[in-house]
Amino acid sequence: MKILITGGAGFIGSHLCQRLLEDRHEVLCVDNLITGRRENVQPLEGNRSFRFLLHNISLPLQIQEKIDYVLHFASPASPPDYLMFPIQTMKVGSLGTLNALGIAKAQKAKFLLASTSEVYGDPLENPQRESYWGHVNPIGPRGVYDEAKRFAEALTMAYHREHGLDTRIVRIFNIYGPRMRREDGRAIPNFITQAMSGKPVTVFGDGSQTRSFCFVDDLTEGILKLMESDLHDPVNLGNPSEIRLLDLAKLILQLTGSLSPLAFKPLPEDDPKVRCPDIRLAREKLKWQPRIMLEEGLTRTVDWFREIPLGR
Ligand code: UDP
Repeated sequence: MKILITGGAGFIGSHLCQRLLEDRHEVLCVDNLITGRRENVQPLEGNRSFRFLLHNISLPLQIQEKIDYVLHFASPASPPDYLMFPIQTMKVGSLGTLNALGIAKAQKAKFLLASTSEVYGDPLENPQRESYWGHVNPIGPRGVYDEAKRFAEALTMAYHREHGLDTRIVRIFNIYGPRMRREDGRAIPNFITQAMSGKPVTVFGDGSQTRSFCFVDDLTEGILKLMESDLHDPVNLGNPSEIRLLDLAKLILQLTGSLSPLAFKPLPEDDPKVRCPDIRLAREKLKWQPRIMLEEGLTRTVDWFREIPLGR
């Protein structure tokens, strides 16, 4: 297939580009590089089946060649990033999704939206099933991401219902792994970078809030299965093993052999207290479940951070 991926130079997008090329697809990677990195896809650029197009998908894009699948992954995704680019985040979730859906419709291509566990907000149910409508503060600082993705889901379903577009929606839960930026700002890159440089490891709040972290290779497997499926309703992909942030910080200190102290900082506004995916749907319909446990995935991630030059 010829696959257009928006946000293809981002953390998750670049892993998908690589995997799709390994499966002998052609990949057109569209990215404006506000949080993506050209270095993420540089190793792919020698491949004749790969092309990079510098473009902001919130602006219209005319594609002349035949596309079979559109994957819409463009968006700032870490809380500090979407707080730094609140309007860009809302634009790419709304106008960007509209433009990406427009390409899929014009091309009669299939479409997959990268959505997020943030659609559940600060959830009142744990774990979260796809049927849960969520608990989101629309006007809080995180609302720019949450509501943009909720709008993107609604728009995707509208294109499916009104135009019969062949769509999929994946709700992605806390992914980590190689190619996260050091300054990404999310817990895992922060903790690893701080631990490796002997700086205090910043735990927000008392660290009792939970997340469930999924290694990026597990996610890409799940996305490939979802692409091949005929599921139009949203599907959670994530690792259901839940951990308190304080325990994550201690685990990373142990894995890096670091003597960094813990530094407790204020909990950001609207920070979800719990988060854990219910993945029964993915298990049953996609025959998918994550395979890489947290310690192994963290070890691989730490190794990657050790190898990359400090400027990256
Ligand atoms: N967090 C933390 N220290 C950091 C960065 C994040 O304690 O340096 C906490 C954050 O408050 C949240 C959790 O880690 O409770 C996960 O945050 P992250 O930014 O990774 O992603 P989120 O799941 O909130 O989108």
